[in-house]
Amino acid sequence: MKLTGSTIIVATQNKGKVKEFAHAFAKLGMEVKSMYDFDNLPDIVEDGETFFDNALIKAKAVGDRLGVPVLADDSGLCVDALNGEPGVYSARYAGEGAGDAANNAKLLKELGDKRAGEEMKFDAELILPTDLTALSSARFVCSLVVYDPSKGSVYHTDGTAEGYIIDRTLGEGGFGYDPLFWVPSFGRTMGQLNTDEKQTISHRGQALAKLIKELAPDR
Ligand code: IMP
Repeated sequence: MKLTGSTIIVATQNKGKVKEFAHAFAKLGMEVKSMYDFDNLPDIVEDGETFFDNALIKAKAVGDRLGVPVLADDSGLCVDALNGEPGVYSARYAGEGAGDAANNAKLLKELGDKRAGEEMKFDAELILPTDLTALSSARFVCSLVVYDPSKGSVYHTDGTAEGYIIDRTLGEGGFGYDPLFWVPSFGRTMGQLNTDEKQTISHRGQALAKLIKELAPDR
């Protein structure tokens, strides 16, 4: 499977993701279209147990309806002190239809409650401003799927980004849990990185780099 042509369709309605994909594919001279660009797409129920399952559900639903290859991303945040939660429930952690602010508030509350009960692990290598506390190690995970309905073929790749959840939101950039996610290599939260910076280390950036190397090596 190869990415040809000047347009790629991404099966997402997440504007933060659309922005990041548009930024990455513009470097290859490709334009991104999302679910906002098409009418009559099916309702998608993301009831898979893994990020890969859900990415495949999205890519197939949109690819089968449009009859062309489609890229889908399923991603989320896994926090060690919460046994990997919110995981595949990241988008709806504070309830169905919850926004980023409510999800961030719920994560801080869950971690705060946890900290009240037990000593949190603290990594001595972690360099934080003195007034910030790391609540737990965590990682962002991204699964990317390209599905080609003409052949029924599926290409899959993934990426992770390691970091720490801090005790307050910092930064206006990115989306989702970015303002809570401390990136040790930058000494800033993901919310304080610009799109280029985020792409060099993010789960989505890593997965995309692998995908582009494999499916668009000459671009
Ligand atoms: P999905 O659209 O069902 O894959 O849900 C993704 C959810 O995971 C988002 O709504 C965010 O809460 C979270 N998430 C995924 N990627 C990122 C990211 O790059 N930054 C911050 N939050 C993210």
